[in-house]
Amino acid sequence: MVGELLKSLGVSASAYQGGNHAVHTPIDGSQIASVTLESPAAVLDKVDIAHKAYLAWRDVPAPRRGELVRLYGEVLRKHKAQLGELISIEAGKITQEGLGEVQEMIDICDFAVGLSRQLYGLTIASERPGHHMRETWHPLGVVGVISAFNFPAAVWAWNTSLALVCGNAVIWKPSEKTPLTALACQALFEVALKQFGEAPNGLSQLLIGNREAGEVLVDDPRVPLISATGSTRMGREVGPRVAARFGRSILELGGNNAMILTPSADLDLAVRGILFSAVGTAGQRCTTLRRLIVHRSVKDEVVARVKAAYSKVRIGDPRKDNLVGPLMDKQAFLAMQGALAKARDEGGVVFGGERQLQDQYPNAYYVAPAIVEMPGQTEVVRHETFAPILYVIAYDDFEQALQLNNEVPQGLSSCIFTTDVREAERFQSASGSDCGIANVNIGTSGAEIGGAFGGEKETGGGRESGSDSWKAYMRRQTNTINYSRELPLAQGIVFD
Ligand code: NAD
Repeated sequence: MVGELLKSLGVSASAYQGGNHAVHTPIDGSQIASVTLESPAAVLDKVDIAHKAYLAWRDVPAPRRGELVRLYGEVLRKHKAQLGELISIEAGKITQEGLGEVQEMIDICDFAVGLSRQLYGLTIASERPGHHMRETWHPLGVVGVISAFNFPAAVWAWNTSLALVCGNAVIWKPSEKTPLTALACQALFEVALKQFGEAPNGLSQLLIGNREAGEVLVDDPRVPLISATGSTRMGREVGPRVAARFGRSILELGGNNAMILTPSADLDLAVRGILFSAVGTAGQRCTTLRRLIVHRSVKDEVVARVKAAYSKVRIGDPRKDNLVGPLMDKQAFLAMQGALAKARDEGGVVFGGERQLQDQYPNAYYVAPAIVEMPGQTEVVRHETFAPILYVIAYDDFEQALQLNNEVPQGLSSCIFTTDVREAERFQSASGSDCGIANVNIGTSGAEIGGAFGGEKETGGGRESGSDSWKAYMRRQTNTINYSRELPLAQGIVFD
């Protein structure tokens, strides 16, 4: 089944058969392919090739570079259904979310194409007569992209489409849990390359490997930028290693996202917002809603309505008419059960969370999403457990709610549901939410590509995707030009 799909996406059988690393689908836990993990020596060769590709690509005019990304967007449009299905099979997302991920790739291609004509610098007034100053942006070099299993395609596309229009070469190390989606993305990119015709060899390469292969990439001084998406644990290792060689990093790490639900909120809207944000992708989004900070006066009603909504959620095969697919693997299931046990120890009252469909899928891990009423923001609540657990905490006054929102180590996404303009504005003010994303009357997940995406504190501080995130993929140069016949010095210094 997956063979046909991969074939239709242009992946050759030798790439996913007979390898030393088994690939499983979370849908039923069965093995669907085996790929070959590449050696650390292979990484060095790839960096070599990528560096040469960069040296040629940086001189191609940016709008022309944009044409390659435009072609890739077209190829993605043609293969959206198949790539979406592959993502469902490999990462366990429901079909709509698999397709949504491919749409996000198409959207960022469109954005990057426009950007390829807008890599604007500045003109700056010089203090010296007959001089002008400007600021220009130049390509950076080889960009190493390390991605997580839960967005097996879009994160790469965010980085690569921008990196390419900015004049860089890319090496992508996907999660070892989702190499097939990566193979398909690369095969489709090669179709675009063929249509484009004149791109240097090795402009965007795939590195199928585990953590060790990632480490070689991270340590290579010929890779000036590492964009790494994954757990805070990973970022804690990668960040200092890149910094030690004075490289740059974009870190997109774990989140612990909260909603403040105030007494004036439109509760119908809020309940729908909670449902999508907390149970979508089976709680395996970095922006998943994990903490509901609700005013005590509406807490019981909200919890009852959310429990009713949870009870109706269809759990099962993500390719069928269900809303919640499986957890990625047993490890994810055990982490969820461990967190629920800890929550009980810390005074939590748990609703849901049980394993589902065990008889039908003994090797897969479907769960009922859990709601846990907590006496406060205890230790377990302060950690990201990558599973559908929604902790509910009551608050009495707005300042306390803001404090709870901010009092966790992570700082990715946050939202408030309110119809009180003072609360909404305060939440988005300097003394409001401390997260990279702060929404009003929208849940924490499902960001659009037009905005800069990323978070503060242990989320790593990186920004990707829209707005001026492209600047992270370029180097800035300040130029002063003297068109006079004199040589005046800055600060009025006379030196003769
Ligand atoms: P993970 O940290 O286990 O792995 C992520 C990637 O890092 C994989 O490719 C892995 O091989 C690689 N890696 C791990 N250790 C490394 C090291 N020392 N050196 C180099 N590479 C290394 O994460 P995961 O389980 O695949 O994904 C889930 C996590 O990702 C969650 O914490 C989630 O919040 C986070 N995430 C964050 C964002 C974001 O934008 N902030 C987006 C998606 C996922």
